[in-house]
Amino acid sequence: MSDNLIYKKKNVFEENPVHDEIFAVSDRYIEFLNTCKTERACTRYFVERAKKNGFKALDFKEKLKPGDRFYALNRDKSVFFGIMGNEPEKDGIHYCAAHIDSPRLDLKPQPLCEDSGIAMLKTHYYGGIKKYQWTALPLQMEGVAVTRDGKTVDFSDNGYTFCITDLLPHLASEQAGKTLGKAIEGEDLRIICGTIGEQTQENDKIKYNVLKILNERYGITERDLISAEISFVPQLPASSVGFDKSLIGAYGHDDRICAWTAFEALMSAAPSGRTKLVALVDKEEIGSDGVTGMQSSYFDMVVDKLCESCDKHLVNLKSKCLSADVNAAFDPIYPSVLDKQNASILGCGPTVTKYTGARGKSGTSDASAETMAYFTNLFDNKEIIWQSGLLGKVDAGGGGTVAKYIANRNVDTVDIGVGLLSMHAPYEIASKADVYETVRAFRVFLED
Ligand code: MN
Ligand code: MN
Repeated sequence: MSDNLIYKKKNVFEENPVHDEIFAVSDRYIEFLNTCKTERACTRYFVERAKKNGFKALDFKEKLKPGDRFYALNRDKSVFFGIMGNEPEKDGIHYCAAHIDSPRLDLKPQPLCEDSGIAMLKTHYYGGIKKYQWTALPLQMEGVAVTRDGKTVDFSDNGYTFCITDLLPHLASEQAGKTLGKAIEGEDLRIICGTIGEQTQENDKIKYNVLKILNERYGITERDLISAEISFVPQLPASSVGFDKSLIGAYGHDDRICAWTAFEALMSAAPSGRTKLVALVDKEEIGSDGVTGMQSSYFDMVVDKLCESCDKHLVNLKSKCLSADVNAAFDPIYPSVLDKQNASILGCGPTVTKYTGARGKSGTSDASAETMAYFTNLFDNKEIIWQSGLLGKVDAGGGGTVAKYIANRNVDTVDIGVGLLSMHAPYEIASKADVYETVRAFRVFLED
């Protein structure tokens, strides 16, 4: 009796004495992280794998049949993977939604400048970052430009390394006295990109030489940078962390860890007759706005297609969604911002979060008791190790996810995700145990 009375978290490593399978899943996840550091790279990777699994591009003009496996790729930056079920109106749709954009530095439209013998690129940060973490760190270039003749040029995998400088400690007494948020200003996040001048040039010799290199390699001019979409992300490879190699250190766990696990779950889910949809979207880090964000009506276009032969409103009412996004794992070095009893603990499985938001639950969909119970009972019945956790202490700050945008469409939605240490840093930490168990959790929901 007393065993059942008290709720206790379980540890995935301790409950699974043999760890081979847990480590094998993470090896594949690490491989994915090393090739996919932007949303474009992610959609490319996922579509390629889905095609090998028999998924076909969704034809909005053709009728879907039960069992059809499809993907809908939206502007190369968000993508939906689905399996058509028998009767959406009777069964509803089971959704998993995650985002594939991560905090980074984007170039300004006119980025290239030169000062005191150094050519630099001006940036504007994307998403919530601690600016000081982005200095003295190797960066790589990602993204595309579209030239005057309509040709798309891809900058990914170009082998170049870049960096933003920081001040030497010897001369940083003034900087050291500033607050953390002010020590490095947004305008100072300028990326070093060259120091060799072009002898024939009078002014901006180094800038000219950089443009020459870009033109020779990519056929682009300074004007083409105005329309380009160029990002800089950490160049560090994802790797196992710790003597026991139980952790994964990487850029972009938020939220590729949930995107990858949801995708894995769909690819390995047993057929159930219920319609399943995994939404991997862009722009979450800046508010989910825009054509490729969760608020875009592209989502409705896909759902309309699934509900072609039935009433979409009735389908929504019967549908359920796991809004999959990372959470803040309890960090013993910073215990003051989390209520340990209600925080995500590394290695104890995916964290189910009833509500997110800030200042009195503002900006969250706040799942109902019935919806929470459906998911937690399902996980317990299927022997999934899960845990309850909230993002921070009351009034410590807060955050939101895509959950509300799906819930606003009248779909019962709960937040779930992997707890991270150093979330939003250039190198975030996750537990391999949580990656493993999160795939299992998504799979039982998609199969239900
Ligand atoms: Mn996120
Ligand atoms: Mn985030």
